[in-house]
Amino acid sequence: MLFFKKKKEDEKAEDVKPKLSMFEKLASGLHKTKANILNKLSSVFTSEKIDEDTLGKLEEALYTSDIGVKTTDKILEEVRKKIKSGEEIANIKDLIKDVMVSLIKTDERREIKIAEKPHVILVVGVNGNGKTTSIGKLAYYYKNKGYKVLIGAADTFRAAAIEQLEVWADRSGADFVKNKMNSDPAAVAYDSYKAGEARGADIVLIDTAGRLHNKVNLMNELEKISRVLKKLNPNAPHEVLLVLDATTGQNALSQAKQFGRTSGVTGIVLTKLDGTAKGGVTIAINQELDIPVKFIGIGEQKEDIQEFDPESFVRSIFE
Ligand code: GDP
Ligand code: MG
Repeated sequence: MLFFKKKKEDEKAEDVKPKLSMFEKLASGLHKTKANILNKLSSVFTSEKIDEDTLGKLEEALYTSDIGVKTTDKILEEVRKKIKSGEEIANIKDLIKDVMVSLIKTDERREIKIAEKPHVILVVGVNGNGKTTSIGKLAYYYKNKGYKVLIGAADTFRAAAIEQLEVWADRSGADFVKNKMNSDPAAVAYDSYKAGEARGADIVLIDTAGRLHNKVNLMNELEKISRVLKKLNPNAPHEVLLVLDATTGQNALSQAKQFGRTSGVTGIVLTKLDGTAKGGVTIAINQELDIPVKFIGIGEQKEDIQEFDPESFVRSIFE
């Protein structure tokens, strides 16, 4: 009796918990990155004047903030331009923020348009980066937008991977298609498409394996999945999302360069931003690759994914 009473009270407490806005959630997810970048820049912010010495400090702080060489050079160039023109720099923090925002302009390819049914999203990336979790969160995200979602378990390498995905399908209210462990991933992709079509799914999300040790086989496998899907619908997969782990910093950037070349990646999901001070790498990936960051992961719960909005991202660090 007591137990039930307690449970009810808990539920009530949950109901009245203030909901964070998207921006507040983003800012809270990025707090380690914010602390890191602002800490590195603190001696620049407190400088009395912007001289060569301050510019040196600025350069060093930016180079070690994971935002990448291109972005760093651009910021320095803009600051120098202002100094040269004799214009007074009232607030160096705002200047850096404004330059960053103007650099990472919105890319119209960022938006995922659901044009035909089923819209197939193939999710690829190295093991441990957060593919399965991101699929679960994306399923929930799209369900909330009113779409019917189906998840296909084409990472057939481990039984536990299939089970983990099934838990996420339950949690997000998505349909689920699986086959036996070690079955052909392309066959699962095929079945998932067919099931999605038959059941009227708007979106089919397909999980894949990401073993590192045999990269050639992995790429062949991903290409085979795409080929099989193309036979069913020449537009499928409509989207190939590469999942990258932000906690690996510059390594995420190099993985993006490798994968991006071979498997027709159309967008990036950058995960675990909540657990790292290296979130500046989001800016580097966005600037140095021709593949837009489409989603960011900021936690392990089903609601912890957001569409990447560059301006909010920069503002959450500098404001
Ligand atoms: P996969 O091997 O690529 O499928 O990776 P998983 O989805 O299994 O994720 C690996 C680990 O990263 C799990 O423990 C997840 O809970 C964790 N993870 C994934 N995304 C996030 C995120 O955005 N934030 C945090 N803190 N952890 C995450
Ligand atoms: Mg997985």
